[in-house]
Amino acid sequence: MSTKITLIPGDGIGPEVISSARRIVDEVVDVTWEIVEAGESAIQRYRTPLPDHVIESVRKNKIALKGPITTPVGSGFRSVNVEIRKRLDLFANVRPAKSIPYLSKYNDVDLVIVRENTEDLYAGIEFEVGKEETKEFLNFLKRYGVGIKEDSGISIKPISISGSERIVDFAFRYAENNHRKKVTAVHKANIMKFSDGLFLNVARKVAERYNIEFEDRIVDNMAMQLVQKPELYEVIVTPNLYGDILSDLCAGLVGGLGIAPGANIGEHYAVFEPVHGSAPKYAGQNKVNPTATILSAVMMLRHLGEIKKADLIERCTIEVISEGKQVTYDIARITGSTPVGTSEMTDAIIKKIRACDPETL
Ligand code: NAD
Repeated sequence: MSTKITLIPGDGIGPEVISSARRIVDEVVDVTWEIVEAGESAIQRYRTPLPDHVIESVRKNKIALKGPITTPVGSGFRSVNVEIRKRLDLFANVRPAKSIPYLSKYNDVDLVIVRENTEDLYAGIEFEVGKEETKEFLNFLKRYGVGIKEDSGISIKPISISGSERIVDFAFRYAENNHRKKVTAVHKANIMKFSDGLFLNVARKVAERYNIEFEDRIVDNMAMQLVQKPELYEVIVTPNLYGDILSDLCAGLVGGLGIAPGANIGEHYAVFEPVHGSAPKYAGQNKVNPTATILSAVMMLRHLGEIKKADLIERCTIEVISEGKQVTYDIARITGSTPVGTSEMTDAIIKKIRACDPETL
């Protein structure tokens, strides 16, 4: 029976990398793709970057593969990516980083960042400098003895007990299900006692329920530790902003954003997407690396229970990268080979998949 999956190509390089992942999934699984537009292309057609039918499609199919979507800096519409996560309550952002032979600077990285996806400074509670409501808010704070410069803009960082509990619990369950031995909570509780401090206290309580090693690290120290001894870490659970930053750092440890996959998981729905953004300067050039999106599709197939097919795609993709011949510019400059385009690298992976013994499926 055909599996129905929502496909959101996104904008910038999104449509190219999504097309690669789609071609590869179509090699091994019977999928009916329900294609919906979000981002810049949707504005032209629907006058909104996130039409309701996009969310409805994911609600109906329960699962989506998504390309990156541009967020204008400083002005314009708010992040469509953040909005999708919020509206579908996709509270867990899972971002694995694993060394790839002949590519990664570090040979022994095999960790997963579990990032809280709905709270923190990403909650979108912001007061623009000079606005009437901002002045009122500043006056309100003044009444409580909090003096903030009048020419300030303000972003609020909410972190709840319930939000922290469910993300830390998710991280421990992930560790259990994936035979991981340790969970590390990352925070800045020494400075932000009532938000990060709360997160840490909740994490300690949740840890007591599991027979898995638990430790915590302050985020700045964690950044250094990840560069010096990343092999010590297995599952890292953290509030939204630190998770975003550390997952790019971890992508850098193993070969760059071009190979870093991700999943946004909630109670009812799951949206799979690469860690990288829409890289507008490379859009339409058949240049960028499709691996991050292909490996996001691999996570999606595992989520659907298609473990062998997911393993096959992953193995063939890693083999193409490690051989270093049919690879895009970002890998070619590390392996010292001549780069090929997005679609040629995809062709090479498909060729490998077709050469595999169907009995392995
Ligand atoms: P980016 O990830 O788009 O690109 C940064 C750099 O990483 C690129 O210039 C390129 O050198 C490299 N890169 C990214 N993807 C690559 C790939 N597949 N292959 C090879 N190299 C790759 O980050 P940015 O430039 O900061 O953001 C561009 C836009 O994307 C912004 O509007 C941002 O808000 C948005 N964004 C969206 C998402 C999402 O949709 N989930 C995530 C991050 C950023």
